[in-house]
Amino acid sequence: MNRYAGGAFSPGLPGGRAGGTLGCSDGALVFEKDGATLSLPLSGLEIERGGTGGRLLYFKHAAQPGVILHTGEEAILREPALSGLEGARKARNDLRGARHFNLSAVGLVFGLLLAIPLGLWLGQDLLVSLAVRQIPPLWEEKMGDALFGQIKSQASLIEDAETLRRFEELAAPLVRQSASNIRLHIADDGQVNAFALPGGHLVFNRGLIEKAEAPEEVLGVLAHEIAHVERRHTLRQLVRNLGLYITLQILVGDFSGALGLVQDSGLFLLQQGYSRGMEAEADADGHAALVRAGISTAGMLDFFERLKQEKGLNIPALLSTHPATEERIAAIRSLNASAPPGAPVACDFKALQDALKNAEAGPARPEAPAAAPDPVPPAPGKAESGAGPPETP
Ligand SMILES: [Zn+2]
Repeated sequence: MNRYAGGAFSPGLPGGRAGGTLGCSDGALVFEKDGATLSLPLSGLEIERGGTGGRLLYFKHAAQPGVILHTGEEAILREPALSGLEGARKARNDLRGARHFNLSAVGLVFGLLLAIPLGLWLGQDLLVSLAVRQIPPLWEEKMGDALFGQIKSQASLIEDAETLRRFEELAAPLVRQSASNIRLHIADDGQVNAFALPGGHLVFNRGLIEKAEAPEEVLGVLAHEIAHVERRHTLRQLVRNLGLYITLQILVGDFSGALGLVQDSGLFLLQQGYSRGMEAEADADGHAALVRAGISTAGMLDFFERLKQEKGLNIPALLSTHPATEERIAAIRSLNASAPPGAPVACDFKALQDALKNAEAGPARPEAPAAAPDPVPPAPGKAESGAGPPETP
């Protein structure tokens, strides 16, 4: 007789219970412990599952109320004397169900463990989009102003009136047709870069204007940056970094927390590049803006292509952080194929570059307490993208 570890409940046992072995013998299921036995007839034997996950088998018989034998050994159901019983068949089926149930439960737990971060990850974009939509232009400008205040405190800006006047004159056709409150600034930085802040502050590095070989090249970058502002890409990048709590505040219409955080953390919040999709959008919008303004779109392409070829100090680093460059150049080239030639830019670009060469930069003006680590963005390449708030054109 095969023996299976088990136990018994019976009023006749000391304490009402005992551990021992179960086996089949002479038409009965027999519990044995130290030579003492309890038997339940196989005929009419009831078998039920219980315990955690249905892993215990309980045996009862109507002829012996109060007696319950049990074992955790599934193999007992394969005993020839037991296997043909209706109760045993049912118990085997129940176990399959129980196993299935357990697997489902495990799957659910794992599913939740995966779904929570995945949901947060997928949901973040949605939350950010909803929050960005909630922010009125006025608050967007306030945040941009706070960020620009920090840039002013950490970077030198060109203050020469003639340089700024010539730059604004060059930019006027694009600035005029934008619905955003575009404000232009030139940073005394030799890196080829430009970047936008939420609400319309655009900062061009001196290096970008100096490196350009034609005004249309600067205008190509400008059109791209204006598109980032108009599409609220910069605001979006900012909101992404505000954190869940502040984002939820924005969703219920409270923007003070966001502004406070911008004032405290500042540029750090912008240290995130635009997505490829945003870059492509800004390229396309910028290109369309150039066409609308009657400006040749060839400069946009020329500039990016030249930057790509240059083996200058900043350029390779910039391009390495802008893997979409080839793709973007190809897209602009294809847009150019059907673009009108554009009229000559009515601006003395050489005079602007000369004025810039002679211009003195104003000192950085500490005003805000916060000091972001590296406010000025990296150098840019073609239409930027990139790595920091700033992006290059
Ligand atoms: Zn960009």
